[in-house]
Amino acid sequence: MNTFDLARVRADFPILSERIHGKRLAYLDNAATTHKPAAVLAAMDDYYRHANANVHRAVHELAARATAAYERARDRIAAWLNAAREEIVFTRGATDAINLVARGFLAPRLQAGDEVLLTAMEHHSNIVPWQLVGAKTVAAPLDEHGALDFDAWRAMLNPRTRLVAVCHVSNTLGTVNPIAQMIEHAHARNIPVLVDGAQALAHTRIDVRALGADFYVASAHKCYGPTGFGFLYARREHLETMQPRDGGGDMIRSVAFEGSTWNDVPYKFEAGTPNMAGAIGTAAALDYLDSLGIDNVAAHEHALLDYATERMRTVPGLHLVGTAPQKSGILSFVMDRAHPQDIGSILDMAGVAIRTGHHCTMPLMQRLGLVATARASLALYNGRDDIDQLVDALHTVNRLLA
Ligand code: PLP
Repeated sequence: MNTFDLARVRADFPILSERIHGKRLAYLDNAATTHKPAAVLAAMDDYYRHANANVHRAVHELAARATAAYERARDRIAAWLNAAREEIVFTRGATDAINLVARGFLAPRLQAGDEVLLTAMEHHSNIVPWQLVGAKTVAAPLDEHGALDFDAWRAMLNPRTRLVAVCHVSNTLGTVNPIAQMIEHAHARNIPVLVDGAQALAHTRIDVRALGADFYVASAHKCYGPTGFGFLYARREHLETMQPRDGGGDMIRSVAFEGSTWNDVPYKFEAGTPNMAGAIGTAAALDYLDSLGIDNVAAHEHALLDYATERMRTVPGLHLVGTAPQKSGILSFVMDRAHPQDIGSILDMAGVAIRTGHHCTMPLMQRLGLVATARASLALYNGRDDIDQLVDALHTVNRLLA
């Protein structure tokens, strides 16, 4: 039975009919950001046309509509993750959410020499915030396929480990980390765990309660939602003990010149007028994913990953970087004769959009002995025709740079 109608799905994404240098667009830069279905664009447009007002404040009808739609988005995200609504803090994205945990949770608990245990594949967003609050960042090694060396990671847990922080899926290698096992081991030593789900949210089912994660963060724009919006899931007991990072409207219960008190969670972390349209667009994106079924999406993307892996291996001089057995739809590669930048430019002329560079994983590049890779990354609207267009263009790279 065909559970995934690719032609119908593609018709939902207006931008996919853009012509690029006169060519059909094969958009394979989804790990950087995904496109938005018409349902998301319509939900945000509808909000501005029919419900635009500030939330949580006025008594007029538009404010009631805006507040209801905004808070429904919290319910939507909470239900998606199997969390309670009070455990969802709206943020500007995954980066902002990690910084919030660094400042609000880690910093007050940190003593000189305390460590955050990472993996070598972390994004800068899951390295620098910990360093900014003074933590020592240590990273577990990977094996030759780009999978975490689990035994080495476990051996690095020690009494100075204040937090484990790990990406669910690597944005450079596509590796899917064994986060359930990692959480189990860290919790056995009373170490809390933050999972960076930026590359997972759009591609796999996530159940934060079943995982037992202390913190789970993601960005909407990598999941068919708008830019400038994301969330922090945190277990309620953590949110209760965390200090607010930003002060301003809405995050307070009372304000006096002698001192102020804070609102309940999650609102004490949401100072100022929030991104209402962002929240509403994100809820619409999750509704859209739900209408397709996340398990159908995952199956479609896995089949396409297998196809892409097989086809790319036929390109002479091409080497895949990241071949872990548990992998998501991200294909990093280098070519013997071409610099990644040149690959990206030649592919662009063929209508194929990929990413080149260090992918905000400089320490990983250093461990791999590379300065950059080219990266093709998949989303639910990609098909075999996109991969064929990519592979044809890779042959052109070889021809041009022979
Ligand atoms: N973590 C990972 C694994 C990512 O791939 C990214 C973005 O590329 C981020 C964090 C940061 O996400 P954002 O820039 O949306 O905050």
